[in-house]
Amino acid sequence: MPRRRATRGNCSFCGKDYTRWGMTRHLQTCAERRNAIDSADAGPGRQQRILHLLVEDAWSSDYWLHLEVAGRAALDELDSYLRFIWLECCGHLSRFSVDEIFYVKESELPYAFYESKSMSAPIASVFGPETEAEYLYDYGTSSELLITVAAARTGIWEGKPVRLLSRNETPIMECMVCRKQADWLCLDCLYEDGNCFLCVQHADQHVHDDEMILPAVNSPRIGMCGYEGPAEPPY
Ligand SMILES: [Zn+2]
Ligand SMILES: [Zn+2]
Ligand SMILES: [Zn+2]
Ligand SMILES: [Zn+2]
Repeated sequence: MPRRRATRGNCSFCGKDYTRWGMTRHLQTCAERRNAIDSADAGPGRQQRILHLLVEDAWSSDYWLHLEVAGRAALDELDSYLRFIWLECCGHLSRFSVDEIFYVKESELPYAFYESKSMSAPIASVFGPETEAEYLYDYGTSSELLITVAAARTGIWEGKPVRLLSRNETPIMECMVCRKQADWLCLDCLYEDGNCFLCVQHADQHVHDDEMILPAVNSPRIGMCGYEGPAEPPY
């Protein structure tokens, strides 16, 4: 496949668009974000560590999320968020891996191999400034993500424990027949030669079984284990 240009995304504060790396820099200086932080910090509540995380698909630079998380929230909350926005198909197991320690669901701890701890650990106790974590969803048809700390601050947190700062827009997917925008993909074709995208019209006329045709969603789990989204709000 020809190399595509880097995907871009919009800043959730000011709406400007950047690539994944450009967004890391932008979020440090965005005036509207600064205002939001200042007004939260002026409000009631206890100070806590707040982390800006960059979450990327381990195998494709197309898919990324800039998230901000409350340090006191448990890893469980981040696990749930990643499932909602990108991954959940049929309730597979997942784990974080940080400095050779696995963090798994509390209920899985008795069955876990190697050195494992519970995802009930607070995020700030697991992620230091240099932490590079891996996250795996589904031990069979695995989706693997990389999570790095883009920035950290101390402040007052409002609302849900994970907040979306930015995400990649849907990568360009062209119908393999007519090159129009594709909304579907065929798993048979994906397994055969990787060229698998179809527009609505050509999905209708396609030779392979309907059951093999899945929606082309904005997620690294596209085409895996029958994943059909959500991947778009609400999540
Ligand atoms: Zn901005
Ligand atoms: Zn599944
Ligand atoms: Zn087409
Ligand atoms: Zn096909």
